[in-house]
Amino acid sequence: MLLLLKGADIYAPEKLGKKDLLIAGSTIAAIEDQIEIESEHVQVIDCKNKMITPGFVDSLVHITGGGGEGGYTTRTPEVQLTDLTLSGITSLVAALGTDSVTRSLEGMLAKAKELNELGVSCFTYSGSYHVPLKTITGCLQKDICLISECIGVGEVAIADHRASQIDYRQLAKVASDARVGGMLSGKSGIVSIHMGDGKTQFDLLYQVAEKTDIPLSQFYPTHVNRSQSLLDAGVELCAKGGAIDFTTSSTESSIRDGEIKCSKGLKYFLDKGGNIERITFSSDGHASLPEFNSNGELTSINVGYESSLYSEVKDSVKQENIPIELALQTITSSPARILGLLNKGRLKVGFDADLNIIENSSMDINCVISQGRIMVSDGKAIVKGTFEL
Ligand code: ZN
Repeated sequence: MLLLLKGADIYAPEKLGKKDLLIAGSTIAAIEDQIEIESEHVQVIDCKNKMITPGFVDSLVHITGGGGEGGYTTRTPEVQLTDLTLSGITSLVAALGTDSVTRSLEGMLAKAKELNELGVSCFTYSGSYHVPLKTITGCLQKDICLISECIGVGEVAIADHRASQIDYRQLAKVASDARVGGMLSGKSGIVSIHMGDGKTQFDLLYQVAEKTDIPLSQFYPTHVNRSQSLLDAGVELCAKGGAIDFTTSSTESSIRDGEIKCSKGLKYFLDKGGNIERITFSSDGHASLPEFNSNGELTSINVGYESSLYSEVKDSVKQENIPIELALQTITSSPARILGLLNKGRLKVGFDADLNIIENSSMDINCVISQGRIMVSDGKAIVKGTFEL
């Protein structure tokens, strides 16, 4: 029941130096310069030349598949446990996305429960792209208040041709219901916003903040790296008290069409004086990723990949020279704080023992521990979903 990790460089995500870390059950019990326990009940892992980071927090994964914008044959598959664990993800938030017709919140909740039973921490958003919202109980406040996995609502789509074209009053109603549901249950009640490439950008969020008593911080807009113009507007939103999220799953054609690679976008954001605590990455895992040729014709369709979450942090460090303790915040402490996930996203005594052991030189993930349980060892999954080979 005790796991002792010896001699790693600890990034909590802030740099703590070389320490030993003790896990008791599912909790971090101690982080000290030296911890010595001699007992047959202690499993010791030598972490020489390795670092330990918090388990990664992915604020947007389509666990029951997403998209299908190219017809029925393009419906993307469900996520598997090892898609997450091999990517170092120990906490995630599930969302429906575009398709709330052939996929349901009930099905997604069951899938979230499956992932929780398998050992990661899976939370959910009520609703989908569309307003009026679909919910499980018939009421957003009730969903957040009474369903333990449900922490907020989204992705509500704005500035997008697929969105419900709502006005600020309708968005304010969604946000206030989420806020009250969150207050009653000790959750964030966060409103995840899918940003399209429409010209109105963040106008609706500003209108809600100006004309009602709901603060900008209630909203968590994602896909903000989809264009330079939206990224610039996102820098401004953060300066005014908002927070933004970048999507790490990408394709060559979307980058060619003006999407900003996350690592480069993070560098740009920091160079513009952006506050590192207000920017996060998420994978948009298992969303559909269509590829178009220069005539705009669909040439292929892929699936968003959870592994892109950490890849972009690695690229931020290796290609953009951003200090690792800053880059890590985008997928650990910052999303956990914005989502209101207590005991997640940090290496701290009393917090959940969700952590990754990573090679110092290659930055490859060697070992993944979720709630004190070893899920990945020597880069290989040792815990798998029921139907995974
Ligand atoms: Zn989206």
